[in-house]
Amino acid sequence: MRNDFPGLVTSNDKPWHYLDTAASAQKPQAVIDAMSRALGRDYATVHRGVYSRSAQMTLGYEAARRRMAVFLGAKSETEIVFTKGATEGINLVAHSWGGANLREGDRIVLSQLEHHSNIVPWQLLAERVGAEIDVCPLTEDGRIDCDWLQANLTAKHKIVALAHVSNVLGSVLDAQRAAKAAHGVGAKLLLDGCQAAPRMDLDMAALDCDFYVFSGHKTYGPTGIGVLWAREELLDAMPPYQGGGSMIDRVSFAGTTYAPPPQRFEAGTPMIAEAIALHAAIDYVEALGMERLFAHEAALAAQLRGELASLNSVRLFGPEQSAGIVSFALEGVHPHDLGTILDEENVAIRAGHHCAQPLMEHLGVPATARASFGLYSDESDIEALLRGIERTRRIFA
Ligand code: PMP
Repeated sequence: MRNDFPGLVTSNDKPWHYLDTAASAQKPQAVIDAMSRALGRDYATVHRGVYSRSAQMTLGYEAARRRMAVFLGAKSETEIVFTKGATEGINLVAHSWGGANLREGDRIVLSQLEHHSNIVPWQLLAERVGAEIDVCPLTEDGRIDCDWLQANLTAKHKIVALAHVSNVLGSVLDAQRAAKAAHGVGAKLLLDGCQAAPRMDLDMAALDCDFYVFSGHKTYGPTGIGVLWAREELLDAMPPYQGGGSMIDRVSFAGTTYAPPPQRFEAGTPMIAEAIALHAAIDYVEALGMERLFAHEAALAAQLRGELASLNSVRLFGPEQSAGIVSFALEGVHPHDLGTILDEENVAIRAGHHCAQPLMEHLGVPATARASFGLYSDESDIEALLRGIERTRRIFA
């Protein structure tokens, strides 16, 4: 697959060992071509034009929406809202659905491992309406503790918002158990699918969640686009998040009425080329087979964990079985120093808090080093990483 990804070639023609796919995936040529065509010979705006190029673009944009519906196993494409990314999707739900449905004294459940983008929008909502946030703890090996959910949710809890796959630990949520616990008390379940969409077969009916978000750029597509899926009846009842063109039914100074979903939530000129290129990205990954992808990355993660466990003075975080993401710390070496030395070896890892400071606090570290795999990763990436770690240990010895 590597040859499909121009981003994996370095200027000095040495292989680049890209181990930061969890932050953002490299793009296959098919996505770059789709983007280039959409911005080039096919370009026109959507939804407004009476000329044929605009009508063609509208067909392309709406075909992308249908493709997302198939990808997620949605009931209808009207359940698909294009957003700027997962962050905007969560903000949209917290602001629109949350603002309409949460009152003073209501409670929100998040977990200890959430990304800041699945924490801060809920804090803003809680402040606005006077709600409280409860934090679901993790099991010893770093999975969201569904037993805790089962035992602690009450009728006061209105929404449970959890990462489907952790961006730091690679742990996979038992989404069906979380849904059962949430629905058992009448709460809704939002899943942050940023790290699941690039590597898991998704079916909204089987997951039984109420809201699902993901980002295009982590799913081998472009930046600036993401998807929010929500149950039709929830979207129907939600007020607009932003006002502007394209989201209205009729505007007058006496009062404005709004378009039905999904247009109600897509104010302004949408991300046209980005949606079309995301369509190409989903075609590309699904053609490879999501189950194969998951197994490939999980096997690489297991191999790396095994190798790191055999070294002295390495601390490993997260469960044995990880969805292609391995967080670790080298005793006596700050992750940033490790990242800088690895960069000299053409190995790109992530070092930092990974936008999950409450998780870092729980782990008792300011930062971790994180290697994350993609569909193009292979054993040569692990070998290069281990060589770099050995060199770092010699430097710090
Ligand atoms: N949630 C998770 C689990 C993530 O990994 C990320 C990106 N690191 C986000 C949310 C935010 O995604 P974006 O910045 O693309 O909106």
